[in-house]
Amino acid sequence: MCFRVAMFSLHTSPIAQLGRTRDAGGMNVYIRELSRELGRGGMYVDIFTRRSDPHTPFIQTISDRVRLITMTAGPAEPLPPGALYPYVAEFSRRVARFAGGQEHPYDMVHSHYWLSAAAAAPLARAWDLPHVTMFHTVERLKGQQQGQPVEMSAAPVAPRDHATAIRIESEGRIAVGANCVIVSTEHEGEQLRRLYGLSSSHTRVIPCGVDLRAFTPGGADDRAVARRALGLDGADTPILLFVGRLDPIKGIDLLLESVALMKTPARLLVVGGDPAGDPEVERLRARAEALGIAERARFPGAVPQSELPRYYRAADALVVASRYESFGLVAVEALACGLPVVASAVGGLPSVVRDGENGLLVRWRSAEAFAGRIDALLGDSALMARLRAQARPSVERFDWRRIGDRVRDLYQTLSVEAERAAVCSCF
Ligand code: UDP
Repeated sequence: MCFRVAMFSLHTSPIAQLGRTRDAGGMNVYIRELSRELGRGGMYVDIFTRRSDPHTPFIQTISDRVRLITMTAGPAEPLPPGALYPYVAEFSRRVARFAGGQEHPYDMVHSHYWLSAAAAAPLARAWDLPHVTMFHTVERLKGQQQGQPVEMSAAPVAPRDHATAIRIESEGRIAVGANCVIVSTEHEGEQLRRLYGLSSSHTRVIPCGVDLRAFTPGGADDRAVARRALGLDGADTPILLFVGRLDPIKGIDLLLESVALMKTPARLLVVGGDPAGDPEVERLRARAEALGIAERARFPGAVPQSELPRYYRAADALVVASRYESFGLVAVEALACGLPVVASAVGGLPSVVRDGENGLLVRWRSAEAFAGRIDALLGDSALMARLRAQARPSVERFDWRRIGDRVRDLYQTLSVEAERAAVCSCF
């Protein structure tokens, strides 16, 4: 018997170009890869996303048993997540109409990010199906910074604007109403349980995965090959790498300041954004100039994920100076390629980066602290060799096959619970 999943990714398509805009990054990868893994295991997955381009086909098969279905809701143009709430109900209605015309009903509703969950919740109720959701980011948690504990009480929060107020209120309702909230770390689970008064059975820790076949350390001379291919000859000058969306939450300014303070004259590669005309790239270039490191900082723009292993192999360390990360996929990808990670000890990063084992954690997020720790790493070849050796083994537990098994197991538990509840309600 086949199992069908209705997967919701309202605000961004799982096949969008990654890292170029602020709206396509880890969540897109997660939905694409999880769906691929579920399809590989025999499930049928329909991913519903909003139309942001009039030319996108209505239905595309993106991997075995996985379809991407593009629904018109609001104007067929890119819109920021903050402008999408008014189109959620229309999106829901269109998915309902589409599902009504299908031969087989769905067995599970799985949503990503609060907008998708807001669209999926009424459908799960109408179809009498379990609803699994994953927030990826939670408004009340993402403002959290080191030294600034998040307000964990259930007391009303003074919203910054109307859209934020709607999001905060919706996230609370969704967390309580969904059958299960998937969190990527135990730490996030604890925070959500306290924030919304959830029981522990209401959350399930399932980390994000990594494609261990695509992200590999390569052979002994692959580092030199990768450097040459990227035009990074220059013998032994260390290379630091940043990969991600050019969003203020990623702390790129702090990273530039750290490089300027370092004793080692390292080069820095900032992968992400659009080097042709992206104002954020221009701003960061100007910042590098003002800090006197323009010669050493390069901004190649976003690169396709298939080319990233070459960047990870060419570098000496990946630096993640984020203010907040719910998980931090780039850290896992770098480690899978044998690259140590220097990261702020925020959000989910400490669950991936172990201080002194596969990388270094910066507990007090400042340019001085980052500069000091990166200098220490680059100056200690024994430490560097140890971290490199332990990098890949430390992330083998994030293999997508294992993660897929855990999601299938959750679906199974929720389906059995739903059946039991249906039987009980007959008496
Ligand atoms: N990414 C990419 N090309 C880029 C920049 C980023 O393919 O130029 C991918 C990267 O491989 C990772 C994802 O985007 O899988 C970013 O995920 P992460 O969890 O690090 O950050 P998020 O976007 O979720 O904040």
